[in-house]
Amino acid sequence: MKFYIVEEDASPPYTGDINGSHMQRLPGKELCPTCGAGGGIGGLNYPCVELSSLPAPELKKLSNSWPVPRPEFERLRELVRPFAPSWARLESGVGLGPLTGKGSGHFGQLFAYLRSDLLVQVQALAQLRDAGVRGLEQSCSILVRFRGKNPPEFHEVQLELRGLPHPDSVSPKSKPPCPTCGSADIRYLSPLILDAASIPPDLDVFRLHQHLDIIASERFKETVTRLELGGVKFREVEAR
Ligand SMILES: [Zn+2]
Repeated sequence: MKFYIVEEDASPPYTGDINGSHMQRLPGKELCPTCGAGGGIGGLNYPCVELSSLPAPELKKLSNSWPVPRPEFERLRELVRPFAPSWARLESGVGLGPLTGKGSGHFGQLFAYLRSDLLVQVQALAQLRDAGVRGLEQSCSILVRFRGKNPPEFHEVQLELRGLPHPDSVSPKSKPPCPTCGSADIRYLSPLILDAASIPPDLDVFRLHQHLDIIASERFKETVTRLELGGVKFREVEAR
């Protein structure tokens, strides 16, 4: 079985682009006194998390990414946790709720926003699901305003975090977890190698738990190609 990293295809005619962010966000936290970590993760979003039942003052706190004291961060994280999938990493900087913003240009049926968010037009999503592609079960409409006639009707797929990079692709410059805050500075070598034993047998598209590229199976790539769905390209990645 082959695996691929899903990337945006920016070749003609695909000129589409989005300038957006997710509705809410877990804030940054004050710097750790031991290792100095505090900044958030980028590109990790859970678009189907629906927080509108939270009180307005809490939602306001979740719309500001400015760092907060660690106990306040923990409180906000626990406030959000019941709404998030059980497998979710809930760290500073993760986006929650639908993608909002502005878009323009010509889009294909699929769009790999910032290489980390998979958007699929509603009709193509139904085609892929009908074809038996697994991993697309959770998706939500986006709130991006598109300029021009015939705007695309995208859903963002909430991809599961499964699978790991192979230990051979972890850089020796990585640092072990901090004894105070637990945050680890893990770096990866390029090209990435997947840990074959950790790859989920039940999904055709997913994201790795520690590396945020979108990973697709051969079946996903073949189905997208057969249905002539454009907008993304596939780069093969070794699984060892
Ligand atoms: Zn630390």
